[in-house]
Amino acid sequence: MPRIRQLLDARRLGGYLDAVTETWIGWSLPPAGAVLEQSGWRPDEAGSYCRRCGSSLGPGEATPSGCGSCRGQPLPGNGLVRLGSHAGVLREWVLAIKYRGWAEMGAALGRRLGQAIVGCDLIDPDRSVIVPMPMPWQRRMYRGIDHARVIAAGVAEVLRVPIVPVLAKANGPPQVSLATSHRRRHGAGGLRIRKRLGGWGLKGSTVVLVDDVRTTGSSIRTACRLLRPIRAQSIVVAVVSVSDESARRDRAARMNRGVQWGPQDAVLALRPSTMRPQQAPAVALAGPRAPV
Ligand SMILES: [Zn+2]
Repeated sequence: MPRIRQLLDARRLGGYLDAVTETWIGWSLPPAGAVLEQSGWRPDEAGSYCRRCGSSLGPGEATPSGCGSCRGQPLPGNGLVRLGSHAGVLREWVLAIKYRGWAEMGAALGRRLGQAIVGCDLIDPDRSVIVPMPMPWQRRMYRGIDHARVIAAGVAEVLRVPIVPVLAKANGPPQVSLATSHRRRHGAGGLRIRKRLGGWGLKGSTVVLVDDVRTTGSSIRTACRLLRPIRAQSIVVAVVSVSDESARRDRAARMNRGVQWGPQDAVLALRPSTMRPQQAPAVALAGPRAPV
């Protein structure tokens, strides 16, 4: 019996599962918990980014009316929570979730995002629901992961609120294959509200709209416009990362160092500092264009 108890010990079981992961699939993707722990990465402090548009801020730049990037502009939603700028290891993880199906990291970052939402006092968990940004089923089949849904599940685990898949998306070119100007002009094509007998019953609730990255904000803007008829009291946008000016500077610096992103050489090497020695594989990215 003591032996059985030993076997059932959660920590031992966790270690065993890690060992199996390393043996069988560790060459592909390392355990997310270990990567997060060893990377030294921390989510942004609430005051380090704009609560309206999500842009990184310097000390004293934040005001209730927004920041230099968004002040005076109408923005979708009633607030934004993020984990960081779309740069460095966070960007690498987001890309690996999306293009390598790293669901474990998606759930782990979703839980961190949930904790960030709890800390921001923007929602009442008793009256909130989570709406993941949808992806076409064809793309989900191709990629093997609905990344926003996986992240949303991590958020839901912390907030203890239901996921309500109100939005659906028809198949079309991936957002990364469209020019930024096209996305700004045409919004996110193919998004729609799912029909449901009796409606969704979300009047007066707070919708937490979850996505992986805020790039131009066009998908989020379209989603918020579509969600208006369900008469939610407020919509809070929750994203893992925001492609802001600071992220663009980081990408430009990478380009200057000769790091290329494209269909033939889009290779994501997880930083050695985040990996154990035996787990330092190159993670290949698939996609028609350089990911953003
Ligand atoms: Zn702003």
